[in-house]
Amino acid sequence: MLTPKESKHIELECINCRTRIPLTKTVDGCPKCGENILEARYDLTLINVQEWLKAIKKRGRSLWRYFEVLPLYDPANIVSLGEGGTPLIKSRALASMLGLKHLYIKDERQGPTASFKDRQATVAISAMKEIGVESVVVASTGNVAIAYAAYGARAGIKLWGFFPSLAPSEKMREAAVYGAEVIKITGTYDQTKEIAARFAKRQGIFLDRGIKSVAAIEAMKTMSYEIAEQLGDDLEDGKRWRSPDWFIQGVSGGMGPIGVGKGFREMFHFGLVDKMPALGMIQSTGCAPMVEAFKRGQRIATPVDDPQTIIATLATGNPGRAYELLYDYVKKYGGAFASASDEEAFNATRIVARNEGLSVEPATAVAFAGLFKLVQQGVIKPDDVVVLNCSGHTMPVESQILGDQWQRSVDLSERTHVPVPPQEGLVSAIEQIDSQVRRIVVIEDNADAARLIRRVLQAKGAEVHLAHDGETGLNVVRQVRPDMVITDLMMPNVDGFQVIDTLKADPELQHIPVVVITAKELTAKERARLNSQVDMLLQKGSSIDEEVIENLVGKLD
Ligand SMILES: *Cc1c(COP(=O)(O)O)cnc(C)c1O
Ligand SMILES: [Zn+2]
Repeated sequence: MLTPKESKHIELECINCRTRIPLTKTVDGCPKCGENILEARYDLTLINVQEWLKAIKKRGRSLWRYFEVLPLYDPANIVSLGEGGTPLIKSRALASMLGLKHLYIKDERQGPTASFKDRQATVAISAMKEIGVESVVVASTGNVAIAYAAYGARAGIKLWGFFPSLAPSEKMREAAVYGAEVIKITGTYDQTKEIAARFAKRQGIFLDRGIKSVAAIEAMKTMSYEIAEQLGDDLEDGKRWRSPDWFIQGVSGGMGPIGVGKGFREMFHFGLVDKMPALGMIQSTGCAPMVEAFKRGQRIATPVDDPQTIIATLATGNPGRAYELLYDYVKKYGGAFASASDEEAFNATRIVARNEGLSVEPATAVAFAGLFKLVQQGVIKPDDVVVLNCSGHTMPVESQILGDQWQRSVDLSERTHVPVPPQEGLVSAIEQIDSQVRRIVVIEDNADAARLIRRVLQAKGAEVHLAHDGETGLNVVRQVRPDMVITDLMMPNVDGFQVIDTLKADPELQHIPVVVITAKELTAKERARLNSQVDMLLQKGSSIDEEVIENLVGKLD
């Protein structure tokens, strides 16, 4: 079913001088100019594109369904665990809170090793098998080594995994489970890469070249093919493939967005999609060399020698050439570099888990936190089709996220009250509010937003009455005489302004505190008018945090 190896034609093109050479096992940089980065080129003129699309539809969901554009000659060398083909989940609650109409989450957690690095592993390990590699050295903050260890085990290729000390020990242990040699280096990730390279050279072991390896970029590219196909199914009834307006990812070395960008360029060239997406690269504030360089308008990034982040996955201090490639992409096709702090990321972890049912690792949460910012800044617009790479699962790092106090013990043998230690953030906000029932009327025409607000308030013990338009809202207020009214502004017929005017003009209702939650851009006049009438004004984009809603209940005290 896959194209047989005799008819496959793969060349490598130097990104500097554009020299082309055939892909063989001896390729090591450009023979003409010495450039390290070579890009794979496929000749789709050998295949009829329409025929190819039909053939793809009939294949399994694994990323190997795009075999014709992957750097492997013989399908017999594929080492697979069913990777790729991850769902593109349409966000509801989060999208509604952000005011986005088309927010999609590419759920890469659902791969065999729970991060998108299993794409890299299946392609790289298969390519190694094709050229006869028996053992490989890789430097990793965790996920690459875990994925290589699993696929290496399956292929009979031994893995030497070098980890910086920041890597969570749970991740090193996971790699060891698959039989990898685990070497922990007391130093930064960049230093670990150097030591791994020296070790490989001295021992004569194959070194994985990371971003400079053809397999890595080509593997990450498969995300873009899946996204185009899945968006086409969702937005174009499967009649054609479709690019999003944005691809957003938490970025360390930049392999993901570089691969995705290359994929869309290829599809554009083949005539499969009609535009190029903007790329959103989100880094951790404590290690954001790309963000800093872009802000200064520089094409070369100044390395961060001592990353100040506990998010090991994103601790590449020196992005090297990868940043130049991303800089060029953003200048040509659009995009943004942004950063989010560890704290913002951990906060986003909870928001995403509680609203979307997705438990993501901190590196992924950085992408969500960055998305919130780009929306608030108006860089991403309400109508934009946005795809976020949900790059990894919490499982290996749960202890980092929850700390030690995630469970409450009730000891029945001693009938004494066990005090629960104070906890940070969201949880402590809940603890502080007494459980006395309070009555709140929520007037909100967006059903998803209304449900979210109700759920959070009910969890706090409030009695919540929902109304989906202003007129019904006023009737409900008159009936139930609530302790608080929460209202949206933009609603059909009787809008939020009229609701507030009516309440404030009624001697029996004017004492009820009013909170406004809105996505509307307010004029100075509107703002002044509201300021005199309402107790709190929350912009939907910025009030994304559940804590804000929860604290409302506290405001009644
Ligand atoms: C590797 C990794 C990243 C960063 O990927 P790059 O594209 O190489 O910068 C983000 N999230 C997770 C979970 C990862 O494993
Ligand atoms: Zn060259």
